[in-house]
Amino acid sequence: MSLPADITDEQRDQLLRASAGLTAAVQAYIAAMLPVAQAWTAQLRKLSAALQAAGLLDERGWPVHLGEGENAEDCIACRGTNPPYPFLCPGNAEPEEPRP
Ligand SMILES: [Zn+2]
Repeated sequence: MSLPADITDEQRDQLLRASAGLTAAVQAYIAAMLPVAQAWTAQLRKLSAALQAAGLLDERGWPVHLGEGENAEDCIACRGTNPPYPFLCPGNAEPEEPRP
């Protein structure tokens, strides 16, 4: 990228200093946030492992159904799926094809 020819040397230097300052600020921000992001990731991994050990998440990290015939409104895996009335959890069986 070239700079427009109609700026002064002083303006060019000012732009370069401003750009260097912005780059340094972004680098400092990333350096400050990296340990936070790493700690957050480690906590999420521990939480996911604990939920898998408790049988609430499967090996893919997805919620496990309560079980066939349980109340779908209480099932985290059924949440948002809008199962047909009477709102029973299908369990971990393959979902039915939608009715026409
Ligand atoms: Zn369910």
